[in-house]
Amino acid sequence: MLTHLECTRCGEHYPADRPQTVCPKDAGILYARYDLATIKRTFSPARLAGRTPTMWRYDAVLPDANPVSLGEGFTPMLPSREYPNVYIKDEGLNPTGSFKARGLSAAVTMARHFRLKKLAIPSAGNAAGALAAYSAAAGLEAHIFMPKDVPMANRIECDYYGAQITLIDGLISDCARKLAELKNSDSWEKDGWFDVSTTKEPYRVEGKKTMGYEVAEQLGWRMPQGIIYPTGGGVGLLGMWKAFEEMEALGWIGSERPRMITVQSSGCAPIVKAWDEGKTSSEMWINAATLASGLRVPKPYGDYLILDILKKSHGTAVSATDAEILDATRHWAKAEGIFAAPEGAACLVAYRKLRSTGFFKPEDTVVLFNTGTGLKYLDVLDEHMERTLLSAKSAQSAKPAHRQIAGIIGPY
Ligand SMILES: [Zn+2]
Repeated sequence: MLTHLECTRCGEHYPADRPQTVCPKDAGILYARYDLATIKRTFSPARLAGRTPTMWRYDAVLPDANPVSLGEGFTPMLPSREYPNVYIKDEGLNPTGSFKARGLSAAVTMARHFRLKKLAIPSAGNAAGALAAYSAAAGLEAHIFMPKDVPMANRIECDYYGAQITLIDGLISDCARKLAELKNSDSWEKDGWFDVSTTKEPYRVEGKKTMGYEVAEQLGWRMPQGIIYPTGGGVGLLGMWKAFEEMEALGWIGSERPRMITVQSSGCAPIVKAWDEGKTSSEMWINAATLASGLRVPKPYGDYLILDILKKSHGTAVSATDAEILDATRHWAKAEGIFAAPEGAACLVAYRKLRSTGFFKPEDTVVLFNTGTGLKYLDVLDEHMERTLLSAKSAQSAKPAHRQIAGIIGPY
């Protein structure tokens, strides 16, 4: 049912029977397009009952290839214990512990379908782990370019999955640059290399869009009033919006849409800045720094699509400081029993802010995406815990000194 690929910038069509990257004319992101009219006649939500509880239950709207699956998708939609009408979509329960499993399951499926051999990716962490795992499952080579300070779990899992790792002293944008050098070499095409960078190949969006199908199915084919999504590369946001458009064309939902909310770290918030300034694309964020490594994307490739979706959906973009994110991570663990990735916990910060401004009302159904498990960030969280303890200790040790200097005029 996959008919062609379509450029999101100029609308040009490209054949879907061979590997494609971005639009050769304007470097626009390519979207997979299907014969939705035929799917509408032959498939309905009722037929989903009893299907495998993975993202491949929606294979009617995915490319027709033999899936490389580790059981990704159909993650729980947990009602919040703290806020009625709030749901936490817990993507931490995916294989490799993050939402990246969906996009890479789809991308590696298509890579194997096209007989590609060496899959390369620049990654801030979890995408690398997912590519490594799915490549292992497919019997393909994974080549990872990651910043040297990624969470330890990402580095170790890639090693165990048998991936080739290149550690870069820099950010994900520096990793992408390194990969670009490799692309210009003679062996790139000859040896079957392929770049599965975020939004630079068309099928990661297809995997991620299943989150949109799941939100609809798990809420009984009703749209929530809002979706809060931690936005690094933003593929999930793009994918969900695409899913809603497909579902409307299929007659599964109406024209209603959730307000789409981007949350970023204040240490790297290119989308928030562009949104606040009313721009249609973002600028490279200089000196990006945040403990939420998945949000350390200084300029998302799909920025023009993300900003368009925020506008069309009457959404907004919110930032959260690392201190707020850490506090929310601990709060979610204690209040909800969910040990979230810092990126996911940022959604709670955004929800609190949007409730306090009246953007969301208590009766609005809002879905918060926890994009991964906190277990993959133990070293990051431990380091911050140590730093907090140390600063508390040094504050304490400063007190006696202060008392000595000040003689009898002390605080005690
Ligand atoms: Zn184009």
